[in-house]
Amino acid sequence: MARLGPVGPLCEDRLVVSASSSKSRPGLLDGLDPEQRAAAAAPRGPVCVLAGAGTGKTRTITHRIAHLVGAGHVAAGQVLAVTYTARAAGEMRTRLRGLGIEAAQALTFHAAARRQLRYFWPRIVGDRPWDLLDNKFRYVGQAAQKVGLGTETEVLRDLASEIEWAKASLVTPDDYPLIAARTQRDTPAAVTQVAEVYRNYEKLKNAAQVLDFDDLLLHTTAALEEHGAVAEEFHDRYRCFVVDEYQDVTPLQQRLLDAWLGGRDDLTVVGDANQTIYSYNGASPRPLLEFTRRFPEATVVRLERDYRSTPQVVALANQVIGAARGRPAGSRLKLIGQRPAGPEPRFAEYDDEVVEAQAVARRIRELIDGGVAASEISVLYRVNAQSEAYEQALSEVNVPYLVRGGERFFARKEVRQAIIALRTASGGNAEGDLVTIVRRVLAPVGLTEQPPAGGGAAKERWDALLSLVELAEELAATVSDADLSRYVNELDQRAAAQHPPTVEGVTLASLHAAKGLEWDAVFLVGLAEGTVPIQHADGDDAAIEEERRLFYVGVTRAREHLGLSWALSRKPGGRRNRRRSRFLYGLVPEDHPAARAAAASRSTQKPTGTKTRCRVCGSPLVETMDIKLSRCAKCPSNVDEDLLARLKAWRVERSRELKVPTFVVFTDATLVAIAEQRPTDDGALVSISGIGATKLERFGAEVLEVIRRSAVS
Ligand code: ATP
Ligand code: MG
Repeated sequence: MARLGPVGPLCEDRLVVSASSSKSRPGLLDGLDPEQRAAAAAPRGPVCVLAGAGTGKTRTITHRIAHLVGAGHVAAGQVLAVTYTARAAGEMRTRLRGLGIEAAQALTFHAAARRQLRYFWPRIVGDRPWDLLDNKFRYVGQAAQKVGLGTETEVLRDLASEIEWAKASLVTPDDYPLIAARTQRDTPAAVTQVAEVYRNYEKLKNAAQVLDFDDLLLHTTAALEEHGAVAEEFHDRYRCFVVDEYQDVTPLQQRLLDAWLGGRDDLTVVGDANQTIYSYNGASPRPLLEFTRRFPEATVVRLERDYRSTPQVVALANQVIGAARGRPAGSRLKLIGQRPAGPEPRFAEYDDEVVEAQAVARRIRELIDGGVAASEISVLYRVNAQSEAYEQALSEVNVPYLVRGGERFFARKEVRQAIIALRTASGGNAEGDLVTIVRRVLAPVGLTEQPPAGGGAAKERWDALLSLVELAEELAATVSDADLSRYVNELDQRAAAQHPPTVEGVTLASLHAAKGLEWDAVFLVGLAEGTVPIQHADGDDAAIEEERRLFYVGVTRAREHLGLSWALSRKPGGRRNRRRSRFLYGLVPEDHPAARAAAASRSTQKPTGTKTRCRVCGSPLVETMDIKLSRCAKCPSNVDEDLLARLKAWRVERSRELKVPTFVVFTDATLVAIAEQRPTDDGALVSISGIGATKLERFGAEVLEVIRRSAVS
């Protein structure tokens, strides 16, 4: 458990008194395009940037902060920028530092709230600090037991996430039954039982005087809302707020943000509704999409140019999100790639997950040997349990890696020891340059000249210590008079923000944790049904759409190289019964509708020599019905219901005119296949089973018109 005590002031940084001129540093905004510049240079007040992945949203807000500070509108220390993951916050700090802004806070909502709560705690609760729960299972278990529910891990996990959803959605135990019913939640037990577990959990936790992560936000909000003096001090201290990834704000975070603002409007938000990936957690893109309703005078900017990825990656990303349906899809922006051309994305199918991991590791080795830095490569997966195969495979080819961006870096024993030793040394007057001093202080903690022989835990410890030296080198290179106390201060700030120094290694991270980040090479692995989309999303359209957006987030992390792979069996020698992700439909080059149409038009007949393959999983089709649908009956259907209804109505009309039964026009299976594949030209249409040259000539144009009309309505 982490201590949550009254340590340190609200913010350790000095208030940097800004330049008195009203202009920001000359040239500061030169690196922005006109739209980005409009957002960055907008006067103080509400600003909203609605834009797709890689269009420079984060870049725009860091420049905006630098501009506001440089122009004297606000002191750097009065700026609070929040984002979703610790690593993204770290990235923001690094970018701010690059623009000469040191004192602005860039934190996650949780880290910011934790810091504030720690500072105000003695005033609102008392001197005794409450511990912070790393894991709520114990209390959820006791609470479930009282209600007579099972205490198996899965049950507790589901109950814990339901409690998290309720707290993030500002739903109390009393309100839970009504709201769960109204929102038709798929609850892990009867609603009254879940409410009871939730109520018990809160009681047990409060009696033990511990806090969970959501409490950090709840208590901070309450402190600001209910304690006038606390609010006054806070509002005096922070004046300018910036939220990155605003599409995923929860009602609880929004409430905290409102408490921070305290009726003011100095708020810049940026986001991309198509990257909403935490809805299951209570997050919603609504505050982003409705920002101008709340602040009608806001400056609103839309960006379309994608500076991150090659046109090849951008084209794939546009295809992925082009297939999205539902509300966020309505806010779709088409990205326009700005970078020079690069390699085509590579798709690969493997027999099992071990072989897949080995192949990916070999490819990574090749890239590194070809000059790509290991830290510019990532492997992204849907669930954390997938990391193990990659840890193993990368070790086998001697590639260093770090799992999940190393958020737990500061919890490592040797790092804690190192920081204590460095802090002690900073009290004295050490001789020499910063890097030499740091090396000297870290030697007794275990930093030898040469890395320990072999790999394993000893090498990991050594790497962690070495990264502290590298951080000292970086600081010495960027800050002219950096001394040991400045360095220790940097470490403290990084520890508070959970921002580890960069370790030279391949990043292994979940798709969720990769949000906002970018790498030269990205490997999206395990793209099989049941994993992407995740099993429990099946049958729930909204959940499937969220999985699709998650996949889109993954694709858009790549600057240049993008690998997409899946395995037919989980274990070596296992049954090869897994199917590739439905989201790959139409993306894998050989089964792209255009490629199939080209093959079909080469001969007027359908290619007969080659087997027809399922368009979802790629396996050969034998059953007639399956061939008609172009997919296995078992494979998930992604039928567009609206289009299907329109096609059926059109068919009824046409069959009446022609005085023939409806199936003579098209069979149901053919209509379903059309509604699933939504062909947009003759080539794609003729590649659907049941549509030959005659039908194409008779009905093709009409069918395409029905499809077109359904797409625009
Ligand atoms: P995401 O939605 O994934 O968070 P984003 O919109 O925040 O993406 P950034 O991370 O700010 O995008 O920018 C993507 C990349 O493009 C970064 O490497 C950034 O430095 C670069 N970039 C952004 N704008 C420009 C520009 N005007 N000129 C050159 N490079 C740019
Ligand atoms: Mg970003």
